[in-house]
Amino acid sequence: IESPSIAKLTFVIVGGGIAGVTCAEQIASQFASDDVCLLTASPLVKTVTNFKQVSKTLEEFDVEEQPSSVLEEKYPNLKVIQSAVKLLRAKEHLLQAENGQTFHYKKLCICSGARPKLLTQDNPHVLGIRDTDSAQEFQKRLSKAKRIVVIGNGGIALELVYEVEGCEVIWAVKDRAIGNTFFDAGAAQFLIPSLEVDKKERSLPCKRARYTTDKTGGSKELGSALGPDWHEGIELRGTEQNSSGVHIEYECEVDKIYTQQEFLQSQLDTNKSELGLWPAYVQLTNGKIYGCDFVVSATGVVPNTDPFLSGNNFELAGDHGLRVDDHMRTSEQDVYAAGDVCTAGWEPSALWQQMRLWTQARQMGWYAARCMAADVLEEPIELDFCFELFSHITKFFNYKVVLLGKFNAQGLGQDHELLVRCTKGQEYVKVVLTGGRMVGAVLIGETDLEETFENLILNQMDLSRYGEELLNPNIDIEDYFD
Ligand code: FAD
Repeated sequence: IESPSIAKLTFVIVGGGIAGVTCAEQIASQFASDDVCLLTASPLVKTVTNFKQVSKTLEEFDVEEQPSSVLEEKYPNLKVIQSAVKLLRAKEHLLQAENGQTFHYKKLCICSGARPKLLTQDNPHVLGIRDTDSAQEFQKRLSKAKRIVVIGNGGIALELVYEVEGCEVIWAVKDRAIGNTFFDAGAAQFLIPSLEVDKKERSLPCKRARYTTDKTGGSKELGSALGPDWHEGIELRGTEQNSSGVHIEYECEVDKIYTQQEFLQSQLDTNKSELGLWPAYVQLTNGKIYGCDFVVSATGVVPNTDPFLSGNNFELAGDHGLRVDDHMRTSEQDVYAAGDVCTAGWEPSALWQQMRLWTQARQMGWYAARCMAADVLEEPIELDFCFELFSHITKFFNYKVVLLGKFNAQGLGQDHELLVRCTKGQEYVKVVLTGGRMVGAVLIGETDLEETFENLILNQMDLSRYGEELLNPNIDIEDYFD
């Protein structure tokens, strides 16, 4: 890296997603006389608007993609440069961008997000969904499709199978129930009938945070991850007139994907003509083979760490994220990380777990900025309260969904008790108790219980004497605990 063109900066933040933008905004406003630089590969940045603290830990906000000039106008000391980072030399505090510029930082925060973990690389029949571009590519291909195979059981797969119209969906999930990342089998059972309801009858208004897209930018490879309502405004319709339904294959994964030619030439012991003629064929681990137009791989994400690793000594977590301590510091001096790219390496509170979600990207970006500031000012800082209790509010199959704490009894083994209340088509309430204390909850529908339950989880009150009364619908639980 040659020296003449090196820009010297106090703070450099990489990534124009929610984590990076939140971090840059916080730093720029706190250090108004320092130059702050946000380097991002995407032409648009993501900003949080209409932020609303719903309860102590639950938050809701809208996300807007905006041109970077909006940020620069708001913070005169913040410069946004659209160029991907090519190389980091952490020991020398130098960053090199694709556009040839070199930056010297005092403090760096990496917020480069994550990308979809694809079943196979470079297979034209396999699509991942990550950003606006890939969602549009999906829509384009879907408009010519009669049948698709969806692989994965997380949030993206859940939304996808629910939203697709006019195309048959074969949905392969590795678990015994759908939505295993978010739900247990009971909640899955509650949701399944929604998949069978005709699209036209699903007219409930969608109340969730809306994701808006500015159409000005023609972006290239590394866009930011989509968030809630990524399919809003994108019609997900195949070629068939009527909704052709979702068929779920449980407890299986993909064994092999064949092109049409490979399939026809294969020695497979199956009646090939019965399966019809398709562009691709998917063989599942349960032995079944489905022909399809294409495959959507929604099997989780991999942190975008590549440009930062070579020549440096970053400690990576098991999921390949940059491991950060309770001050969001990586193992390289003066390098912090936040959002999807990082993995929380501190001993977490008994009621919190990391999930690569929108809310956590914002919280981590904000907290990382405060940690960088505290370090520069040599002030102490404590782990933020938002990491005390996991909380997430979203929508699945048009139901409001609130998840609190160890909502799926994560890490509790057999040492827990569940209480469930369910009214078909209306609500599903589950609480997780351990030693008589509430440690988690799943609330589907308009239950109005989130605040009370959040309090019960946070204050760890002994609830043993209430037993099942806790979920008695005839008791106003709020009054009960006043
Ligand atoms: P990102 O938003 O991915 O931003 C990363 C940024 O880094 C981008 O601007 C990118 O251009 C930039 N970048 C990458 N590499 C480089 C480089 N080398 N140099 C410079 N810049 C670089 N979460 C929810 O909470 N609710 C949901 O309903 C939900 N739905 C989702 C649906 C889909 C289809 C997807 C893909 C994700 C969804 N998520 C959802 C997850 C959520 O979008 C992410 O957790 C969140 O956006 C992560 O924010 P981030 O800032 O860490 O990363």
